[in-house]
Amino acid sequence: MTTTAETAVPTAHLSPILKQATPVVVDHAQGSWIRGTDGNDYLDFTTGIGVTSTGHCHPRVVAAAQAQCAKVIHAQYTTVMHQPLLELTEKLGRVLPPGLDSVFYANSGSEAVEASIRLARMATGRPNIIVFQGGFHGRTVAAASLTTAGTKFSAGFSPLMSGVHMAPFPYAFRYGWDTDTAVDFALRELDYLLTSRVAPNDTAAFLIEPVLGDGGYLPTPPRFLAGLRERATRHGIVFIVDEVQAGFGRTGKFWGHQHADGVVPDIIITAKGLASGFPISAIAAPTELMSKAWPGSQGGTYGGNAVAAAAAVETIAVIEDEGLVENARVRGEQMLAGLREIAPRFPRIGDVRGIGLMAGIEFVTTDASGATVPDSAAAIAVQQATTGQGLLTLTCGPGGNVVRLIPALVVTEDEIRLGLHRFAAALDVALG
Ligand code: PMP
Repeated sequence: MTTTAETAVPTAHLSPILKQATPVVVDHAQGSWIRGTDGNDYLDFTTGIGVTSTGHCHPRVVAAAQAQCAKVIHAQYTTVMHQPLLELTEKLGRVLPPGLDSVFYANSGSEAVEASIRLARMATGRPNIIVFQGGFHGRTVAAASLTTAGTKFSAGFSPLMSGVHMAPFPYAFRYGWDTDTAVDFALRELDYLLTSRVAPNDTAAFLIEPVLGDGGYLPTPPRFLAGLRERATRHGIVFIVDEVQAGFGRTGKFWGHQHADGVVPDIIITAKGLASGFPISAIAAPTELMSKAWPGSQGGTYGGNAVAAAAAVETIAVIEDEGLVENARVRGEQMLAGLREIAPRFPRIGDVRGIGLMAGIEFVTTDASGATVPDSAAAIAVQQATTGQGLLTLTCGPGGNVVRLIPALVVTEDEIRLGLHRFAAALDVALG
């Protein structure tokens, strides 16, 4: 497959700050497929980094957005309220865990993350936030301060926001342990942090992803989430779960944290899959907690945009009507099983993991001392080779050594089969 930039639009004047993972320029896209201006059809296992959950241009989402455009595009929510936001709030109320009955809207995941931190600090009057190693929470300065998924997200523009402390994440594969041992270790280290450096009474929030996303596609073990919940309750710490990438059905449950039975966060952050590609984000919390922020302390010109809100309303309806959460679970199991069949042929694949339609393939090698170390060269070579096979993928992980697969929630059995076939072919090309 020829994927050269010959057919591409000239990019010379685009800022080099933007680093592109593929040479593809999209002409149009539908469902799980992207048609490039090079004339090729690509099976899209990136979904705009986990955004186009209902597939590209789902006809019902397109129709809802078009209809809203004809009615009102922008009705600033602190000036005049609009119907799509009221409808969305009602619809979200039906999918949010009981008790999280107050919703605040912004534009992006990063802004929603910041909103949650501001709320936690205002509600508790405490300064510190504890994050977990490998977490990704965004790229604004405050969100980058909370991000430990790679130094590229924070190096060079310090000082960052103060009051952020990092505790270990139970990354079993990295430590060479089983999950239980890793969870015990990470909880012990958290307790140690809470006694050695960051007093519980000075701690406003724990902030964690239910599946580490940009940090390496690692599901957070349910027992770890339960341990955080218990400690947060005990110490009056706000438990914030960043569902920006793992929420909205992607993991085979509506919210990623729901894999931990009985665990309910104090604040959920959502964005990405919420509106199938339109920029809108939200945080949800109990009214009592949300009321601790001053009216007017947060907001923004575009937050909760009417067209994005209408698309989000229809996204939830499509997810429900088409059984997409269940599809994510079933197709996710198919994808993971297929990857685990392929992996043994390639010694550089150290770990295959994931949950629902989030799969990570970690590449490793051995250093001079014989230790297992990240192999980013292999991951990048494989990711680049998938494009040549007509499959779009991305890398992630602090070491850049994980290839991640993020199909749309509408992905079919045949598309997963084809994706696996193309992924195996790319492995042969890159590592064979
Ligand atoms: N949190 C998580 C878990 C994310 O995956 C991302 C985006 N990759 C963000 C926050 C930031 O979202 P945005 O890029 O919309 O600001």
